[in-house]
Amino acid sequence: MIEITDKSKCCGCSSCVQRCPKQCISMREDEQGFLYPIIDTLKCIDCSLCEKVCPMLNPSLAKEPLQVFAAKNKNEEQRLRSSSGGMFILLAQYIIKQGGVVFGARFDQKWEVEHCYAETIEELEPLMRSKYVQSNIGNTYKEAEQFLKQGRSVMFVGTSCQIAGLKRFLRKEYNNLLAIDFICHGVPSPGIWRKYLEEIKFSLSEAAGKNSVLSFSLKPMPVITGINFREKQNGGYGWKKFGFEVRIKLPSEGDKNSVLKSDIFYENIFMRGFLSNLYLRPSCYRCTAKNGASGSDLTIADFWGIQDYHPEFDDDKGTSLVFVHTDKGKSVIERLKTKIDVLESNMSEAIESNPSYTRSVSIPEKYSLFWKTFIKSESVFISVMATMKLSIKDRIKRKVKNRFAKVIKSDLNKY
Ligand SMILES: Cc1cc2nc3c(=O)[nH]c(=O)nc-3n(C[C@H](O)[C@H](O)[C@H](O)COP(=O)(O)OP(=O)(O)OC[C@H]3O[C@@H](n4cnc5c(N)ncnc54)[C@H](O)[C@@H]3O)c2cc1C
Ligand code: SF4
Ligand code: SF4
Ligand code: SF4
Repeated sequence: MIEITDKSKCCGCSSCVQRCPKQCISMREDEQGFLYPIIDTLKCIDCSLCEKVCPMLNPSLAKEPLQVFAAKNKNEEQRLRSSSGGMFILLAQYIIKQGGVVFGARFDQKWEVEHCYAETIEELEPLMRSKYVQSNIGNTYKEAEQFLKQGRSVMFVGTSCQIAGLKRFLRKEYNNLLAIDFICHGVPSPGIWRKYLEEIKFSLSEAAGKNSVLSFSLKPMPVITGINFREKQNGGYGWKKFGFEVRIKLPSEGDKNSVLKSDIFYENIFMRGFLSNLYLRPSCYRCTAKNGASGSDLTIADFWGIQDYHPEFDDDKGTSLVFVHTDKGKSVIERLKTKIDVLESNMSEAIESNPSYTRSVSIPEKYSLFWKTFIKSESVFISVMATMKLSIKDRIKRKVKNRFAKVIKSDLNKY
């Protein structure tokens, strides 16, 4: 029976939950906002299936890829709407046109991130683009297994540990499965993301309604209408300096008043905390699924550094990096070659600017300070700013407005 005594040894894939024949495992959120399995020992029959399907208890060996290349989806409109070079949408459309099913991550109604599947081209849109939050995998391994057993083509995209979890869960190879992971820096906490969204709704409503005489508790809550972690076009950020964008509608002001919060990624509080590794899942600091060990057919990523190696290939609209691990992956790419601009590459070019392919990030020095501050302040803004010691000038630049800004300023003195 699974027992989590060291949180860094559970990636939260839910393979154990979905395989348990007694349905006696459920996932529960911890104080850092990550899900972990909890077992109802009264119902458990000690069959050990949960241990057999756990990818962290049964890690696979690293594997050299068959091929590494840079790629750009020739459909520029699709590429601009994608995070990198638009490989996901190209592969996904191909599978749907074969009558297949595509699994990936989308925002749910509360703007939290969940895994789901698409059976039509239209249903692919919400799956596009990176969401830098751990997705809730739900029952998608079971759903994928059902489709596979029916003989339908299934493409499953996820973090490397989600793909490793899927492969352990299935316990056999399926010719009709195309498993795709991406180079994974690590996943931020869904609990931190939820709190961050509350805080930006609050600060944006304060900023927009500064002349209102209503107190905050009487004001209608603003509604989020869109989020894009990888905005390339609005604001003219481009691919390398992508923008983080949130759209909010203020109910009192009708459709006209859609507030846009948009920052270059390194100036956004949530992205700064993410990229400084302050709130990644504990397993991300000791990842066992990197370097081809997930069992995926293809790994897709950003080809960071392409401008140095092959400047003629870079137009700042997005270039993908693709690792081919299996013959199955190779043959799908062959079939799509007329739709992709391809440039052969190699491992040293690929990983020099993208070390997360081979190694986990380190726990930052200020990790404990962040969590101590967060537990005390219950604020992502305060905790990231206090941890990173942002200057007053930085704070003003980030436009944390009015009353909210004052609260933060006075609270900061406490930490
Ligand atoms: C948490 C995270 C960390 C990443 N770290 C790196 C990195 O260090 N280096 C790098 O080069 N690339 C990284 N990527 C991958 C990169 O951001 C792009 O997702 C990838 O290059 C694919 O881009 P695309 O243009 O082909 O397709 P896109 O249209 O951008 O497709 C993205 C695909 O990823 C899936 N997806 C999105 N969010 C999640 C999520 N939270 N969990 C599981 N699946 C998700 C979508 O469903 C879709 O299938 C990361 C992605 C995520 C989500
Ligand atoms: S040992 Fe078997 S019954 Fe018990 S929790 Fe694990 S899978 Fe479920
Ligand atoms: S890594 Fe996955 S299978 Fe293993 S204990 Fe955690 S949730 Fe269960
Ligand atoms: S870094 Fe590893 S453990 Fe963390 S989400 Fe990515 S693949 Fe999973």
